[in-house]
Amino acid sequence: MLHPEPPAKCCSYCGGRDHDFEECPKRRADAEKEGVAPEPEPATRVEPGQT
Ligand SMILES: [Zn+2]
Repeated sequence: MLHPEPPAKCCSYCGGRDHDFEECPKRRADAEKEGVAPEPEPATRVEPGQT
């Protein structure tokens, strides 16, 4: 009786079946996005005419 039962992994976040909710890469990315406020790039003022 060879019936390897794979761990029922079903990400409830993105619906992926190759990972769990805990290790959802998408969730992590989103968490990072939320955790780290994407700072708008400081307007780098490139002064023209500077030799
Ligand atoms: Zn996922």
